[in-house]
Amino acid sequence: MIKTESPLHPRNRFAGGYDFPRLLAHSPALKRFVAPTKYGSLSIDFANPDAVKALNQALLKDAYGLDAWDLPPGYLCPPIPGRSDYVHHLADLLNEDDEGRAPGPRHVLDIGTGASVIYPLIAASEYGWQLVGTELDPVAVRWARRLVAAHPSVRPLIQVRVQPSPSQCFAGVVEPAERFDASMCNPPFHASARDAAEGNRRKRRNLGTDARGGAPLNFGGIGSELWCEGGELGFIGRMIEESAERPTLCRWFTTLVARSLHLPQLRHAARQAGAAEVRVIPMAQGQKQSRMLAWTFVAEHRQSPSRQLNTRSLP
Ligand code: SAH
Repeated sequence: MIKTESPLHPRNRFAGGYDFPRLLAHSPALKRFVAPTKYGSLSIDFANPDAVKALNQALLKDAYGLDAWDLPPGYLCPPIPGRSDYVHHLADLLNEDDEGRAPGPRHVLDIGTGASVIYPLIAASEYGWQLVGTELDPVAVRWARRLVAAHPSVRPLIQVRVQPSPSQCFAGVVEPAERFDASMCNPPFHASARDAAEGNRRKRRNLGTDARGGAPLNFGGIGSELWCEGGELGFIGRMIEESAERPTLCRWFTTLVARSLHLPQLRHAARQAGAAEVRVIPMAQGQKQSRMLAWTFVAEHRQSPSRQLNTRSLP
């Protein structure tokens, strides 16, 4: 078993590293990607997208019994341990408000759920949360809905809704009376297609793959997954502004922030928007350090909002 060095959340099932013999016992398709490392342990080539996808399939099957997970060609292949970490840290944030009582069912909004619908799958499987995933890209929406439908254990817990406009986060996907315990988001990071291409080249170099050799990207990604107007800062800035227009929509609004450089400006924006509390919660995302930015307009968190989920389908 390979020990991961990143300090993952204590409840993260993948914190101890990947148990390849166990995974291979349940997922023989992973076998052709697994080889001994020079240290004698087993691993895969993380620069090979097919290998990463096969590892994800094995992990999701082993941990949660999700046995039909897949991705359309070229789409973002999410590292499962890092994605799990966000879910567990968010669970801690919400549990704080329950003062030690057993947490009730949570209703959580995942902005930009992706074709992988990864946060809802993990959160529904780990905690039985009810989730609404929103998505701009029609191919990703269709795929995400198919994945949800293919897994009976999470099917009643997850809805995927279409966001019609790239400049909106909440408008267009929620009903006026809907309330959520939290929103979560892994925003598009880059400010242009060109930046995104350069970012991927860098990532490939860091994985030791020839940057000019045309080797496939390890984590993939299509346009809207990787970039948006104003990059991460622009996206989260718009989210903060929009949250202020609907301060009671979510008890906590949260998002990943990939670049720590952006934190001072984003904290400031949340305070300017009238947030009663702003927090930065450090997390590990693979080898990198990441963090969750969380803000709330509720001055007193001890009361949970109405947990009613309006299940009327939006387009
Ligand atoms: N949550 C997934 C995907 C993150 S990539 C994961 O963590 O792996 C960001 C996703 O947000 C992409 O799928 C992109 O299409 C989507 N997106 C971009 N702008 C959006 C918007 N305004 N509303 C909803 N989704 C959006």
